[in-house]
Amino acid sequence: MHQSPLQPIILPQTEKAGVQLYLKRDDLIHPLYGGNKIRKLKYNVQQCLREGKIGLLTCGGAYSNHIIATAAYGKEHGLKTKAIIRGEELLIDNPTLKDAAALGMEFVFVSRETYRSIREQNALAFDLSKSNYNEWYFIPEGGTNAFAVEGIAELVAEIEIPFDYIATPCGTGGTFAGLMKGIKVYSPWRTKLLVFSALKNGNYIIDEVAELLKADFDRTTLELFTSEYVFGGYGKVKPELIAFVKSFEHQTGILLDPIYNGKMMFGLLGKIESGYFKKGSVIVAIHTGGIQAWRGFNNNFT
Ligand SMILES: *Cc1c(COP(=O)(O)O)cnc(C)c1O
Repeated sequence: MHQSPLQPIILPQTEKAGVQLYLKRDDLIHPLYGGNKIRKLKYNVQQCLREGKIGLLTCGGAYSNHIIATAAYGKEHGLKTKAIIRGEELLIDNPTLKDAAALGMEFVFVSRETYRSIREQNALAFDLSKSNYNEWYFIPEGGTNAFAVEGIAELVAEIEIPFDYIATPCGTGGTFAGLMKGIKVYSPWRTKLLVFSALKNGNYIIDEVAELLKADFDRTTLELFTSEYVFGGYGKVKPELIAFVKSFEHQTGILLDPIYNGKMMFGLLGKIESGYFKKGSVIVAIHTGGIQAWRGFNNNFT
């Protein structure tokens, strides 16, 4: 894994508030699949190889960053890859699935209902195409499990400056859990974790993270934002968000994805403007990647 750079972000809001903002550019790890998914896959792939399974079996939506990352990273390690895809999408219209297919990934398309039961009960319980699923190493949706937590935790060790806050977007909570663990293990500073949920009513994630960490954690070092910056729900965008992402790119040269990082950065800069941070605070935000997901938006919205 290449260490991702830490880039200072200087904007009128940060100058005015007297805070230092850095973006940890995990998106730069790879142009197609750079981001948190590669970190989450690292120890899963090692475990798959150790168990001698033929490949990685996972599930996700048709524009999923996790799906493309699994296809690419699995192939790099000589593993077969197979994905159960939510909804009967046509391969031909979908650049994410087309790229994944070019990397050798096989798909099983299932209805949204079937998908839900797979996600809830574990894909291994299903024999969708009569192949032997026991030969496969199963990775849950979004790549989130205990191995993913270990991979994400290492990110904290790469930050070589003292910092007061880490900010991350949140979906399935694997990154949240990994950063919590990373702070505990690797950060000598009293760091507060700021989590920006990409899902509406995302408070349940706290219990899932506690379960992933197999331990409760210090909630005084955490703030979870589950409504103000969600923009209507997972994968939903509004003109205000798109305008923000464009202006952020214009000011910094950095493209944010619309599902996770755009919303996090909108929220984070809002908090900076509103005086949430005391002068002199050092904030490290994680750019968790996901740039390829824009292709789904261009498909659907233009
Ligand atoms: C998957 C993903 C997330 C969410 O990570 P979780 O570990 O599922 O919470 C955030 N940002 C991007 C770009 C992602 O692809």
